[in-house]
Amino acid sequence: MDKVPMTSTGMRILILGGTGEASALARSLAGRPDLSVVLSLAGRTAAPKAEPVPTRVGGFGGADGLARYLDAEGVDRLIDATHPFAATISANAARAAAQAKISLLAIRRPAWTRVPGDRWIDVDSMEAAAAALGREARRVFLTIGRQEAAAFAAAPQHRYLARSVEPLGDLLPVPHLTALEARGPFDMEAEAALMRANGIEVVVSKNSGGAATYGKIAAARDLAIPVFMVRRPAKPDVPSVPDAEGARRWLGLGDHAAPSTLRAV
Ligand code: NAP
Repeated sequence: MDKVPMTSTGMRILILGGTGEASALARSLAGRPDLSVVLSLAGRTAAPKAEPVPTRVGGFGGADGLARYLDAEGVDRLIDATHPFAATISANAARAAAQAKISLLAIRRPAWTRVPGDRWIDVDSMEAAAAALGREARRVFLTIGRQEAAAFAAAPQHRYLARSVEPLGDLLPVPHLTALEARGPFDMEAEAALMRANGIEVVVSKNSGGAATYGKIAAARDLAIPVFMVRRPAKPDVPSVPDAEGARRWLGLGDHAAPSTLRAV
């Protein structure tokens, strides 16, 4: 694990990141002499976009390891700005903050909700999505993480277009696979064109929420294509806000409106 000591001045803030919200918050706090901010990444992406605050990469060693880090670095505020599907780190953050007796805020991006025209089939996991695709061969657009793509090896009869940020490698050993490496945001027109060009009949997506990857959902609706929508895992019920601006307010740096707290989604 890379260790980035915080500087000695001001309020010490650790942001657990890997999301657009974490990056936006880090950028908005950068360069302030009254704050010491460190952004923490898991290290899943080989070349993450550089942000203008000190960044550490790699796990802490569970909740206890994170609690030790918070203690050793004298962190005052912990902000869990991780992805809605990163459940382990959020559970660790809640435990570690309680252990280290420091304030924790979560940025919980609102989930997408159905609108008229959506043809969603809700499923609980990637494995459930793979099974629900059925026996008959279909042209499937997988817009999920590379690790999760492995679940679809159990359904090799389909033709897959699999898009991920990092190369898939041999994680999805099926006879008909087109692998695409790309990082969002993706707009609706481009998503619709991609789906048409590949004759896509069904989309598999996590309910990630947010605007950056909503284009495929809007495109599927437009093309009347069903979406197997994987439900979010449970996250701890801690004080939370929907976005980076809410986190700035919680830190006392926003427009001084009352901090909004939402229940975990
Ligand atoms: P996860 O299952 O909740 O976490 C697994 C382990 O990875 C954690 O126990 C922790 O290791 C380490 N970890 C996770 N986030 C970390 C962070 N920000 N800083 C330091 N260590 C971290 O997480 P995941 O689903 O694999 O996601 C990994 C990262 O990718 C997260 O930061 C998340 O925000 C980002 N991300 C995830 C998804 C997704 O769909 N899951 C999508 C986009 C971005 P230790 O226990 O050793 O501390």
